Amino acid sequence: MSQTKTHFHSIKDTISLTTQAFIDGAYCDAADGDKLETSNPATGETIASFAHCKAADVDRAVVAGRRVFNAGTWSRSAPEYRKEILLKLAALVEQNKEELAVLESIDAGKTITDCLHEVGTEAPAFFRWYAELADKTFGKIAPTGDDAMALIVKEPAGVAGAILPWNFPFLMAVWKIAPALAAGCSIVVKPAEQTPLSTIRLGALLNEAGVPAGVVSILPGLGETAGQAIGMHDDIDTVSFTGSTEVGRMFMRYSGDSNLKSVGLEMGGKSPFIVLDDAAINDDLIEHAAMAAFWNGGQNCSANMRQIIAKPLVDDFMDKILKRVAAFQLGDPLDPETTIGSMITPEHKAQVMGYINKGTAEGARLIVGGDVDGPGQFIAPTVFDGVTNDMTIARDEIFGPVLGIMPVTSSEEALAIASDTDYGLHATVFTRDIDRAISMARRLPCGTVSVNGFSEGDIKTPFGGYKQSGSLARDNGTEALEQYLQTKTIWITTSG
Ligand code: NAD
Repeated sequence: MSQTKTHFHSIKDTISLTTQAFIDGAYCDAADGDKLETSNPATGETIASFAHCKAADVDRAVVAGRRVFNAGTWSRSAPEYRKEILLKLAALVEQNKEELAVLESIDAGKTITDCLHEVGTEAPAFFRWYAELADKTFGKIAPTGDDAMALIVKEPAGVAGAILPWNFPFLMAVWKIAPALAAGCSIVVKPAEQTPLSTIRLGALLNEAGVPAGVVSILPGLGETAGQAIGMHDDIDTVSFTGSTEVGRMFMRYSGDSNLKSVGLEMGGKSPFIVLDDAAINDDLIEHAAMAAFWNGGQNCSANMRQIIAKPLVDDFMDKILKRVAAFQLGDPLDPETTIGSMITPEHKAQVMGYINKGTAEGARLIVGGDVDGPGQFIAPTVFDGVTNDMTIARDEIFGPVLGIMPVTSSEEALAIASDTDYGLHATVFTRDIDRAISMARRLPCGTVSVNGFSEGDIKTPFGGYKQSGSLARDNGTEALEQYLQTKTIWITTSG
């Protein structure tokens, strides 16, 4: 019965939900007892009500985080100790992967296949990778004469805040928590209000793994309540935010209006998928084009919605991408056969449908896709032809299953269109010419360029954006640690 729809439904039917905040090592209600509701976007059913944390709860979590940070039980512990605990945490996440994946799927409308991969494969790998970095991150010794010894050391930044989006709820939590813990920080985490359940569940696993109380607190709540209180808190040293560019801007302001905490921003995108005229339109390219636009229902910051295709290849590309699009299965996210789940909320579905209608109104040709009736928030994979870069659908982040074909006549035109956006998160280039590939990769103004395949890289490679997609901070790789570390110079005058 394993890996069947019935199996995952039986987990859903018997799962025990944890819905409280996790502060100072214990589950608790919000200080004022307030609650919010979360529902399953694929069915419209309410799943549970959960603690609605506000400034008083954030305060309590920060006080606990600071207490344990100052005590040094985590922040100044032997790195091998942090490593062992992070390795235990990885194993616990793996052991609980089915329950966590089902929670994630019902809360976010994501397919169970993706949830199992993100929660059961990627998340433990992240904890393991940062566990191994904990005792392998070295400082430096600066060159001096014999009269001094100069050490450049890395120290944990202090109490960190993490603000999470709803599209990859558990994985984004792990992207922040794993490097913060490896660095020795305490961290106050706010999951998105639409998808708190899997991250809340992590609290129990943190305790089981032996993370000291207060090092990690998990505070579900709204942006304007818990989120703003984290952004404005005078005793939080650094915040790592993943979400929209609009809200990312607010975190810059919060910092300026409070204690000038450092702010790492991972935000939206409008990424291009470029097919140059020497590329072969084969199954491999089409699979990458489809996943680039439709993975996670297009609710993906690096979605390659603008597909910029050399004119002579457009007919062949269109023919093949439509066949691939027809093979997507919309439906029950707990069914492993389903390949596209639901939009996150009715409001988000309405917004995506608004963009689709605007695309038609502004003159793009709708080939396939659009609204799907039903209790859930489904939109069929949608393909537009004849998209030009001045159209709203080519400029705004849609965050839904929409692919727009933009024919071009040269690689220079492709580069100009690809670069003409406020965003700079990701780009894909298909070409068989290594010189053109390298030239495009160097010239595209974005944080990740993938060549001959749609990829965001992996744990080892930094992820983040140029322009309005990000700040200089990066998630993943050794670079992510920098968000949670301070650099200190220790200059020792010697008599030698
Ligand atoms: P969002 O900006 O609406 O919300 C993100 C988080 O910010 C949530 O936890 C929310 O509660 C909080 N928030 C909202 N308003 C706030 C306020 N006034 N003050 C403080 N906090 C506030 O984004 P979303 O809709 O959850 O996620 C989608 C966005 O995330 C997209 O733009 C997507 O591109 C981006 N994203 C980026 C990456 C990346 O790594 N670059 C990854 C995933 C998602």
